[in-house]
Amino acid sequence: MSEECIFCSIVDGDIPARTVHETDAALAFLDANPLAPGHTLVVPKAHHRQIEDLPADLAQEVFDVVTELTPHVRSVVDADAANVGLNDGEAAGQEVPHLHVHIVPRFEGDGGAPIHAVAGERPDLTDDEIDAIAESIRSE
Ligand code: 5GP
Ligand code: ZN
Repeated sequence: MSEECIFCSIVDGDIPARTVHETDAALAFLDANPLAPGHTLVVPKAHHRQIEDLPADLAQEVFDVVTELTPHVRSVVDADAANVGLNDGEAAGQEVPHLHVHIVPRFEGDGGAPIHAVAGERPDLTDDEIDAIAESIRSE
């Protein structure tokens, strides 16, 4: 638990939230400033900042909740699809430093964009450079 963390306060019941699902280790609640009707956040109850901080069993539980919940969220708001993702770190847009997965319902013609739109300008990488990156990740 982190004292000044909004999502820890929600988990502890100190800040109200529209909870939609709960397990022993994960909580799902509606985003207070939704990008779409049904915009849902899934969090581990324990305070972890980023994905590398999450123990494997907790990552599994959070992802299980995401996979179980996403079709229900879509269906109650009659969405055509959903974007599911997380902002992992400040430079990626993470504002609340308690890991949370966004489930954002999407509708045909809603004017939104695919997840490809989150990054900045596309890098101009050669095949060799891409190969080298793949090799570096493999050997980590
Ligand atoms: P981030 O940018 O960190 O990935 O997203 C944080 C999300 O948390 C935002 O979509 C924001 O609307 C939501 N949020 C921030 N404060 C609260 C709050 O107190 N309650 C709820 N339900 N959502 C919040
Ligand atoms: Zn927290």
